[in-house]
Amino acid sequence: MYNNHNMARRTPLIVANWKMNTTLSDAMVLATSIRNGLEDIHGIEAVLCPPFPWLVPIAELFEKARPRHLKLGAQNMFWQDEGPFTGEVSAPMLKHLVSHVILGHSERVSHFHETEEDTNRKVKSALHHRLKPIICVGERTKGINPGHTVITKLKKILDGVGQDRFEELAIAYEPVWAIGSGEPASGGQAELVAEAIQEEFGKNPAILYGGSVESKNVLEFLSQPEIDGALVGGASLSASAFLKICELAVP
Ligand code: PEP
Repeated sequence: MYNNHNMARRTPLIVANWKMNTTLSDAMVLATSIRNGLEDIHGIEAVLCPPFPWLVPIAELFEKARPRHLKLGAQNMFWQDEGPFTGEVSAPMLKHLVSHVILGHSERVSHFHETEEDTNRKVKSALHHRLKPIICVGERTKGINPGHTVITKLKKILDGVGQDRFEELAIAYEPVWAIGSGEPASGGQAELVAEAIQEEFGKNPAILYGGSVESKNVLEFLSQPEIDGALVGGASLSASAFLKICELAVP
C-alpha cells in the first residue's frame, strides 16, 4: 500500500478485462483468487469482466462470499432488449448478473466495425437498465492530438445522454497503440486527455486510463489528479499481478 496518490477524487476503480481468454476452470480459479485477495484490500472498487459464459458461474461463486467492493461486469452488450439478433446479449439479460459493462472497446471497433453511433445506442440501453457503462475511447495512432480525437468520439457516443446520468459513467482513455503493446502512454499525456474530457463534459464521469497497465506503471496514472482508475487487460489474467495493481491503487 502506498500513500503517494491521495489526490484521487473518488474511490479508485480498477477494471479487469479478460477479453476472450480463460477456460471455465481457469476463470473460476482466477475469480476465486482475486476474490480472496480483495478481502484484504480496501479503499478501491474492482470490477471483473470475464467472457459471457463465465458470468453465471462466477456470479454464483460471488453469491456465496464476496467483498462488497468486488463487482462483475460484461465486456459488451447489444442495445436492443430482445429479438432476432443472433449471437447478441442484451442489458435485461445482464442486469441481474453484472453492475458494469464495457462499451466501445477498440477491439469491438477494429474487429467488429462498431461505430460511435452503435456505442451511443448501447450506452443509452445500459443506462436505461441501470448498468454502469465503462466507455472506451482513444486515438489509433501515436502522436495525433489525442484530446481532440477523444472529444470528437465522445461527443458522438454521449449524444442525447442526459448530464444527470454522467455520474454513472466511467470513461476509459485507451490509446489504441498502447493496448497490449507493452508501451503505455505517459501519465502526463493521460492527464491532459482527462482534463480535456472534464472541460467538455464536466467532472462527473469517472476517468480511467487503459493500455499496458501493470503494477510497475499503474501509479504513474493514478497519481494524476484527474485519473480515477485503470482498465487492465493482459495483467488482469494473473491474480497476483491484478491484486498487486489493486493494492497499489489504495489511496
Ligand atoms: C484493454 O483490454 O482494454 C487493455 C487496456 O489491455 P492491456 O492492459 O493488455 O493493454
